[in-house]
Amino acid sequence: MYNDKIENYLRRHDYTGIRLRAVLFDMDGVLFDSMPNHARAWHEAMALYGMHLSPEEAYMHEGRTGAATINIVSRRERGTDATPEEIERIYKTKTDLFNALPKAQAMPGAWELIRQLKSEGLAILLVTGSGQASLLDRLNRHFPDTFHQELMVTAYDVSRGKPDPEPYLKALAKGGLHPWEAIVVENAPMGVQAGVAAGILTLAVNTGPLPDSVLLDAGADLLFPSMTALSEQWPVLRESLAGTTL
Ligand code: MG
Repeated sequence: MYNDKIENYLRRHDYTGIRLRAVLFDMDGVLFDSMPNHARAWHEAMALYGMHLSPEEAYMHEGRTGAATINIVSRRERGTDATPEEIERIYKTKTDLFNALPKAQAMPGAWELIRQLKSEGLAILLVTGSGQASLLDRLNRHFPDTFHQELMVTAYDVSRGKPDPEPYLKALAKGGLHPWEAIVVENAPMGVQAGVAAGILTLAVNTGPLPDSVLLDAGADLLFPSMTALSEQWPVLRESLAGTTL
């Protein structure tokens, strides 16, 4: 059922097949249902500085650095970049608003999927633009014995964030992986672009309000409506991944 799309991917990269050893997970909007809080915090923070960024637009910018998002809105609304001081103030306001909101829960379906991957002996890596200090503790609470510091790429590891492929290329390096030995699970258009640009088969899960077309246009190889759907489809997809060769 997924063979056509996997074949397209293999052809595009001149790979002969996928030998799956690892799954590379984005965090916000994939492992945690945290995007509604981020979108709301962005919207409210920009409004405090007299600029308009709708919650839906915040989803489009997911994965960019805070500075890049602020400057895109600033140029549009005021015709000029924000000063470094403004960027620092606005981003701090956004972070404070985000931290004041109730903590996001684990994404439904995420643990069910991860349990299957673990039982198959696949390595699990985290690739996030987030730089929250308590990241690993929080991951361990929700996904016990799954994520390990040496197999995580965070904001501190990269100089160019998504949509640049650097975060996913770093993850491949950390895991000692070739692109055809991994898959990416992403929810955001720029995260999808980053996974695709790194040459890795990229699964989009549409856990937010954007139309599917945005994720497909970003280059997603496969699209699922939720993490629960991906978890339920995993045994079928796993067979297609193992069985499709050129
Ligand atoms: Mg995300």
